[in-house]
Amino acid sequence: MKFVVLVKQVPDTNEVEVDEETGTIIREGVPSVLNAFDEFALNVAVDLKEKIDKEVEIIALSMGPPQAEEALNKCLAIGADRAILLTDKIFAGADTWATAVTLGRALKKIGEVDLIFAGQEASDGNTAQVGPEVAAHQGISQLTYVTEIEDFDPEVGEIICRKEIDEGHLMVKGDMPLLLACMPRPDFEPKIPNIREIMKAKKKRKETWSYEDLGGDEEDYGLEGSESVVIKTYSPPPKGEGIKIDEEPERAVEKLLRFLDEEGIL
Ligand SMILES: Cc1cc2nc3c(=O)[nH]c(=O)nc-3n(C[C@H](O)[C@H](O)[C@H](O)COP(=O)(O)OP(=O)(O)OC[C@H]3O[C@@H](n4cnc5c(N)ncnc54)[C@H](O)[C@@H]3O)c2cc1C
Repeated sequence: MKFVVLVKQVPDTNEVEVDEETGTIIREGVPSVLNAFDEFALNVAVDLKEKIDKEVEIIALSMGPPQAEEALNKCLAIGADRAILLTDKIFAGADTWATAVTLGRALKKIGEVDLIFAGQEASDGNTAQVGPEVAAHQGISQLTYVTEIEDFDPEVGEIICRKEIDEGHLMVKGDMPLLLACMPRPDFEPKIPNIREIMKAKKKRKETWSYEDLGGDEEDYGLEGSESVVIKTYSPPPKGEGIKIDEEPERAVEKLLRFLDEEGIL
């Protein structure tokens, strides 16, 4: 069986700076990490592989700049068997659809993928769009907000998952091939690879694929292949000081209503 985990390297900070010209994040010189949601998705895939009595190859797949290789090395140490980095200037500046097309073409090239694991969202773009778009590109079903796999029958290809909803959780069923967009549980403890696993990871299969390897038209990729155009990016002006009303409740309500009225809000 083949499990592919979609992983993204993201800035290790919330203080991301955006290039006001291109509208894309400035990544040079910013420390980067493996997206936390993807680390959870990888842990879910590794746990499932350990539970079933079948040969499974876990492939970590990432589109990004050359330094995204670091995030893939971590995936190999956590338990992926193989890693593929999609990197090429042609892929740069991609919006979510162009990202999904690039990942989608790589999935076709890998071939016969049974389960695709993605994070529910990336901590930099936060659109939560790529997972569902990859499923659409592949023409397969998807389960989102997956916090746990309850049951999996690899013979019939049926999987039952716990899905987080506002009111609690749902048990949902899906058939392979399937994409699972995973949402870390509050009690999630990421696997910390030990030195032996890190050393073993160095011998595992790593590949770098470029536009030449994926084919198709150059304008399907990157900024050119992006349906959405970033018109302007700017940091919202810092909020001014709030007002503090330190009065007895009745007088406080009175004061607040007068303030809202003077501000023309009421
Ligand atoms: C501040 C900001 C706002 C943006 N707004 C938009 C927007 O409104 N519309 C738009 O189209 N683009 C937007 N982008 C661009 C968008 O970030 C990129 O297209 C990005 O590659 C994917 O979107 P995301 O980060 O939101 O990922 P999400 O859709 O949140 O990621 C979900 C999952 O998809 C997988 N995944 C995502 N990216 C990759 C990758 N490069 N390699 C492997 N797996 C991946 C991971 O499993 C991840 O957990 C924005 C970028 C930034 C920085």
